[in-house]
This record gives sequence, C-alpha cells and structure tokens, in this order.
Amino acid sequence: MQRILSSELSSYVNQTVRVRGWLNNVRSFGKLHFLILRDRMGFTQIVIQNKEEQDKLLGLQPGSILSVEGTASLSTQAELGVEIINPKIEVEVPISAVCPVEYYKPEIPSDLEFILDHRSVSLRNRKLQAVFKIQAEIAHAYRLFMHEEVKAVEYFAPCIIGASSEGGAEIFNVDYFDYTATLAQSSQLYKQIMVGVNERVFALMPFFRAEHSNTPRHLAEGKQFEFEMGFFEHWHEILDVQEKCIKYIVQYLHKKCAKEIEILGGTIIKAPQEVPFPRLTFAKAQEIFFQRTGIDERNEPDLSPAAERELCQYALEEFGTDLVFVLDWKTSKRPFYSYPKEENPEYTNTFDLLCAGTEITSGGQRRHTYESMVEGIRLKEMDPANFEDYLSIFTYGMPPHGGFGMGLERLTMTILKLKNIREVSLFPSDPKRIAGNRIKAKLFFGGENIRNEIIHLLKKHEMEFTHVTHEATPTSADSTRARGEGMGQGVKALILRGKSSKKNYQCNILSNRKLDMKAVSELIGEKCEFEDAEVIKERFGLVLGSIPPFGSLLNIDTFFDEGIQKEEKVSFNCGLITESIGMRSQDLLTIVQPKVGSFSKE
Ligand code: ATP
Ligand code: MN
Repeated sequence: MQRILSSELSSYVNQTVRVRGWLNNVRSFGKLHFLILRDRMGFTQIVIQNKEEQDKLLGLQPGSILSVEGTASLSTQAELGVEIINPKIEVEVPISAVCPVEYYKPEIPSDLEFILDHRSVSLRNRKLQAVFKIQAEIAHAYRLFMHEEVKAVEYFAPCIIGASSEGGAEIFNVDYFDYTATLAQSSQLYKQIMVGVNERVFALMPFFRAEHSNTPRHLAEGKQFEFEMGFFEHWHEILDVQEKCIKYIVQYLHKKCAKEIEILGGTIIKAPQEVPFPRLTFAKAQEIFFQRTGIDERNEPDLSPAAERELCQYALEEFGTDLVFVLDWKTSKRPFYSYPKEENPEYTNTFDLLCAGTEITSGGQRRHTYESMVEGIRLKEMDPANFEDYLSIFTYGMPPHGGFGMGLERLTMTILKLKNIREVSLFPSDPKRIAGNRIKAKLFFGGENIRNEIIHLLKKHEMEFTHVTHEATPTSADSTRARGEGMGQGVKALILRGKSSKKNYQCNILSNRKLDMKAVSELIGEKCEFEDAEVIKERFGLVLGSIPPFGSLLNIDTFFDEGIQKEEKVSFNCGLITESIGMRSQDLLTIVQPKVGSFSKE
C-alpha cells in the first residue's frame, strides 16, 4: 500500500491508509493510547486500543521508525481534525537509546548551548525545523527575485583565494600545497569582475571571518547574499533593488510559510509593500538617536548596537516598518573601493540596511576607474602593487556600478526576531565551536605548563600584565599581601564538583568574598560541593592556592562572579603558589570567556 503524508490525511476520511515516519511520542489515558507519528509534513495522531498493538511500542523511544496502516477518521481532538484508528503497526527500526534532548516536545526545554551540543537531533524539533524551512525559502525567494525581477545572472565564486579581498585582520589562513591561502570574506572582487560580463549579477556565497568575539550576531562561517549592478543613473537604484528584495522575501514567506510562521509564534518583521524604508543620512541617524535617547554619539564614526536598535524602533513607530537605511558613511569607515561623494569626499555613496535592530546589509557605489581605485587604495595607506588582480579589471572598462552584501543568517534572525545568530545556523562555527561541535580544549596539566600557557596567551593577545615571584602563599589572602600594591584585587579560583554529574566546575570570586553555594548551584543547574584537594592534584596537577582563574585550560566550565568584572585590575596565582600575574580584568574575561553570574557574599 502506498504511503500518504500527515498533511494528506484529511482527504482520506473513512478509508484505509498507510503512514510512515518517526515515533514522536505516546500519550496514554487509561486504556487509550495516542501515538504521534512525525513525517516531513507534520504529525499524525494514531489511536491504539488493541493490546497487541500497544505492546509493540513497549520500550520504544522517540525516533523509532514505524509504518502504520489503519482507518482515517474524523476527530475533534486531533490537531488535523483527522486521526487514524484501528492501526496495525510495523516497527521498521526500533530505537531504545534515550535521547538527552527532548526534541519531540513542542519546545525543547533546554538552553541554546545544550541544543547545539546535540545539534543533529535537536534539529528534528518542530520549531527548529520551521526556522530552517523558512531559511530555505528565504534563499529561494532571493534567487527568484534576482532572476525574475532584476534579471541578474548568478555566479559562483571561489572560497579559497590568494589574498584577502579587502585586507584586514579577520582572515583565516589555510595550508595550500606549499603556500598560505585564505578563506574568502566576501566575493567582492569576483562580483565586480562579473559586472564587467553580465552587468547584473548575484550569488549566495559562503563567507569566513575570524571574528574573535562572542557576540549574538557574529559567526565565523556564514552565507552571504551578494548583488552587484552596473549602469545606473543614480546610485540609489541599488537601494531600490535592496528594498524590493526584502519586501519580496517577506511577502513570499507569508505566502509559502504561513504554517511555519504560526509554529514560531505567528509574527515576523513588518515590511509593508506601500511603506518605503526610511532613508536617513548617517548624520541624521545619529541626530535621531540623540533626540530619542539623549545619548550623544554624534562624534562617533560608527553606529553603536544601541543606536541600531533605536533607529529600527524609530522606523517602526513612525512608519510601521522594521527596516531603515542609513546612507552616506564616512570614508574612514568604509572599504577603499567605496565611491566618494562628489560634493564632499569625506563621505561615501554607501549604505547599511538595518532590520529589527541589527545591521543586515552593507553596500554602496564603487569607484569604477583605474585612477580612482588607486587613489582609494592610497588613501587607506595601502600599496596598489598588492592589488594587481583587482586593479586589472578597471584597465579595460567598468561602468558606474555598486551592490550589496547581506548575511543570510542575519536576515533569518531578524526576520524571525530571534536573539542569537546561532539559532539560525544549522551547524554554527564561532570561537568555541567548529561546525556546531565544541572545540576540544587543549588540556594543560601541572603548574608550570599552565603558567607557561597563560603567559603565552597573554603575549599572543598583546595584553599588558605583570608577572611576579613571591614567597609561597597557600591562601589567596596571603597572596594578595605578598604581591603588594598595584597588582589589583586578588581572584580566588575554586574547583567544585556537581553532586549528581560529578563534573568539575570552576567558580572565581574576588578574594575578599565568600562563595554563595546556593547561588552557584542555581547558576550551574545542580547541587555542588568543593572538590577534594587530592583529586585536584591528581586531575589537574595543581595544589590548592595555586589555581588560576583559567578553567578553560583545564577544560572545565568556568564561571566568574560579577564582582571581578567591576574591578579595573585583578591578580591571581598562575599555577604555582610562588608566582602571580596581575592584569586588566576586562582582558581576563576576554581570554577566559567565562559565564558571568552573581554568586558571592561577604
Ligand atoms: P558588523 O559590523 O555587524 O560586524 P560588517 O559591517 O563587518 O558587520 P560587512 O562586511 O558589511 O559586515 O558584511 C556584509 C553583511 O554580512 C553584514 O551586514 C552582515 O549581514 C553579514 N555579516 C558580516 N559579518 C558577519 C559575521 N561575522 N557573522 C554573520 N554575518 C555577518
Ligand atoms: Mn557592514
């Protein structure tokens, strides 16, 4: 018998049908059992009364693959208004492994880190599935729009390239035979080359950025919508394309993803067709931020995240759209190829598009003659000789042109009003993960190794620090005394053990404070106690009093009390009870990347 999908069930009322899918969950009410089966379209409710059929499910975990034949029957209780009764169940693949993630619930009751730690199976959750279906439709809508409305030609650019397209520090190097190659941050060069071929071109390209910060809006690998066009009369035509593109995508989602939007709570951003996105000059945008908040950033060359949020709020309140353009950025803040404004070359024909509080696009007009491009490179104090490839296209004729780069993940995140970009990347890479997997920390054992590694890290990050030797100091109060003035407030690193998981945690507090064990347990999510000194010696090669606040080097979850953050400078024993390091507490947080909470008392 041929399989039907959950979404087709209502066309088969009172007929015998066969469905196949994953066991999602079983709900029992006395003798009645409701089996919920998941397939690619949704869920089918199956009512089991027969004891023999019920027994087939004994011991089966969610994820088991089942095939079920039965009668489709109208029902007021079933989500689809139809359910299957009198089923005959065939267990195709029995699963007995208990999954740590409760992905089969409407919402996974875990935090994002845990969800990412179990990515492959958490993606089966209905909400997560909806997010990525919508993302797929966004990409599809973008392609449709570019083909049908803009008549642009898609190009496929290389990801492994020789030198960076724009210079800058956020570049990944790769071994390439005997050379060092880099991973592309954008396909800027290639899209400009392709304008010389097809005038209007677009792409959906991977990009790689060695962003060393853990923000909710940066990934180390992502996808970027690229667009570039030649022969406009006015550079604002690029903005017109961008604006139509967003409206097209949003309208497309309303049409194709109503169900997924519903699953995610029913709301996405507002981008009504008839409302133009406000187009503010950079100066005007700063002024509006100042007027609305009293915060004066009018002398800053960039918009702060707070300003980006406020400007979107402004667009929403004043015009009823979640999007706003910011135009005419300072030359100093834009890449060398940006087109200087004719009336004032301190500014450029460039724009950012902000959506629901976050930048999603940067774009603008490019310089298009050889001389102008060389001038742009020189103005940034770079050497035109390093841009031979790039410059060569301008030797042979380029029209006025420009375009934009828009992050797929940024767009998905803001359209759905989600908080963290990792929620919209299937297998996110960031400083702590590669393709979703946690990077295994390099393990360090013993005081001297740990001290050496700390010093190595501080030097590598070019951070200022003081390193002193003193008499042996078994307690942190002794250490603070021995270090003398100017080293900053002492930090006490305590190693705990979870009572149920037996996992170690490191909790760091200022040495004049005490640990609030109750607050710690709440923060960590299980009851904790102090780890034994002998265990610490055996496991980490450290004696009490020598432990530095670098739990990351020991591969244990590390927590900092808020108090540490508030100090300007801090000091600590760096693995040995006779040596201490003093440094800025902000630098310490940057390197260790701990979770910060409030868990100390007087
Ligand atoms: P930001 O200032 O937010 O770090 P940017 O200005 O450095 O971004 P652009 O070079 O303008 O980024 O890149 C164009 C677009 O690509 C951005 O507007 C954004 O949508 C996306 N993008 C850039 N970097 C990242 C990243 N690290 N993670 C996710 N998306 C990114
Ligand atoms: Mn940008």
